[in-house]
Amino acid sequence: MAELETFRNETRRWLVANAPGSMYAPVASPDDICWGGRKARYPADVKRWLDVMAERGWTAPTWPAAYGGGGLSREEVKVLAEEMAKLRLRPPLAGFGLAMIGPLLLQEGSEEQKREHVPRIVRGEIRWCQGYSEPGAGSDLASLQTRAARDGDVFVVNGQKLWTSYADKADWMFLLVRTDPEAPKHNGISFLLMDMESPGVSVRPIRLISGASPFCETFLSDVRVPVRNAVGPVNGGWRIAKMLLGFERTMIADAFKERDDKQRLITVARRYLGQQDERLADPLVRDRIAQVEMDQACLDLTLARARDTTRAGRPPGPESSIFKYYGTELNQRRRALMVEVLGPQGLGWEGPGFDDDELRITRDWLRSRGNTIEGGTSEVQLNIIAKRVLGLPD
Ligand SMILES: Cc1cc2nc3c(=O)[nH]c(=O)nc-3n(C[C@H](O)[C@H](O)[C@H](O)COP(=O)(O)OP(=O)(O)OC[C@H]3O[C@@H](n4cnc5c(N)ncnc54)[C@H](O)[C@@H]3O)c2cc1C
Repeated sequence: MAELETFRNETRRWLVANAPGSMYAPVASPDDICWGGRKARYPADVKRWLDVMAERGWTAPTWPAAYGGGGLSREEVKVLAEEMAKLRLRPPLAGFGLAMIGPLLLQEGSEEQKREHVPRIVRGEIRWCQGYSEPGAGSDLASLQTRAARDGDVFVVNGQKLWTSYADKADWMFLLVRTDPEAPKHNGISFLLMDMESPGVSVRPIRLISGASPFCETFLSDVRVPVRNAVGPVNGGWRIAKMLLGFERTMIADAFKERDDKQRLITVARRYLGQQDERLADPLVRDRIAQVEMDQACLDLTLARARDTTRAGRPPGPESSIFKYYGTELNQRRRALMVEVLGPQGLGWEGPGFDDDELRITRDWLRSRGNTIEGGTSEVQLNIIAKRVLGLPD
């Protein structure tokens, strides 16, 4: 206990001495998040914060120091998170590297793959994207058709990936390819790591009705990927793919653990619905907010327990589908309730008549629709929970 208290004091002192002033603020929009990567251009403070934290391995505090991580114990990581939360400090780095491919490589990567990729993820040098979905393979992911044919010590990859989030900003992709077209569909898949600058990779952003382009189509034409970039056995990629989905689903659910939104929902409700006897005027909305917050508290506690298990070295299993399903559905309930509370002020997309907060609430609500699709739809999560958690028959 005394050692932990010393660690807490030192950590706090170090954070205060090293965090640039502008990092003492919660992340207000996705643009505030530092995703890293070769193409990123950061404000000076963001870069400094990333560099000082990465130098200590505290962008990935649980990862082994041998690969650039913090090498902290479970208790120390909790202390670091608590001290950062108390100071309201922003995380220095986010992204698929830290949340998905890094943890996977630590579990399943070869020593060479760990040494090549993990330290660069810790330092935020490389941004990763995920090449799973294809035009004919979404929920039924194992139907994927992107083909990788062996040519000596390289694979020659041809095919198309779809809905690749931020492929235009990413440096590397982890992707699923079919290496044995004759085998039963789950048995002929391999998991590869591919540099997006390889000749034959082209990326086309998909423009949404909002004008934003968070997704891309990724075309692969005779792309040469070294065989040593296969994670796990060739043709044995399905098990690796599922393990990665466990990390992804935990990451998605984790994004909805309580932050500043509790106060925000109540504040918004007070502003738009008024108060009576120092309580929200509308008893039905009061009841619905209380229910959302109770459900949130249960999710937060369950996630905290799951995180402890993961830190102990066990990758998330099929139970991550419960978190993904519940976290995303709960987030949709919260967002829909906020828009309802706003009334006609929740109908704005841009232009005069709506303030910034109102516009953000509407956009957050619309974005939440995608949360129950990405990383596997809610229906697919329910199927996994039924079969692999509850053991129900097909
Ligand atoms: C915001 C966002 C980001 C994404 N980012 C990425 C990314 O970076 N990389 C990537 O590879 N993909 C990404 N995706 C794609 C995502 O993984 C797929 O959209 C998802 O797996 C569903 O596949 P689909 O769109 O082909 O729908 P389909 O599989 O065609 O499903 C259509 C509908 O049928 C239902 N359905 C299908 N099969 C079953 C079944 N067996 N039982 C019950 N219902 C079923 C589904 O639930 C859904 O409602 C992203 C998607 C979104 C929305």
